[in-house]
Amino acid sequence: MKTIAIYPGTFDPVTTGHLDIIRRACEIFSRIIVAVADSTPKPALFSLAERVEILKLATHNLSRVEVESFTGLLVDYMRKRQAHVALRGLRAISDFEYEIQIAQMNRKLYPEFEIVYMMPDEKYTYISSSLAKEVASLGGDVSSLIPEEVQPFLRSKFNTGK
Ligand code: ADP
Repeated sequence: MKTIAIYPGTFDPVTTGHLDIIRRACEIFSRIIVAVADSTPKPALFSLAERVEILKLATHNLSRVEVESFTGLLVDYMRKRQAHVALRGLRAISDFEYEIQIAQMNRKLYPEFEIVYMMPDEKYTYISSSLAKEVASLGGDVSSLIPEEVQPFLRSKFNTGK
């Protein structure tokens, strides 16, 4: 059976934790569409076009992966793509509390909606885009937090050498 999974998120920017989830999903799903949300809960550092471009660079060697942006409701985008499976990463119980609320809401809006949660390798459980941005803004080494292809983009935002 061919199942498309939609991996939605802000990806501001993509981290090594996101990439770990994407790689794991490649072992399960025939196609993964990484869907970059236009609307973000916090103001984004990178524009929507930049977040998509960076993700494309970071996933260029993964043939099952596509990157797209979407505006509006995730469920409307999923219907348009004829996909009913969403993918999210879970790092800790604190992620779960938020995720369950959103998932139940999405199922109300789209009864066929299914969600698959994946756990990253434990070495990525502390990583978030916010943490990577904070470390970069203070001139720290982000090489374990974000993929190599992403590092020049983050450096250019903060004008730091590392
Ligand atoms: P959002 O703003 O929608 O939470 P993010 O870009 O922060 O978007 O995250 C997208 C998804 O990736 C979420 O399911 C989030 O829990 C998951 N995620 C974020 N960081 C990691 C990580 N280090 N390991 C595994 N999953 C992660």
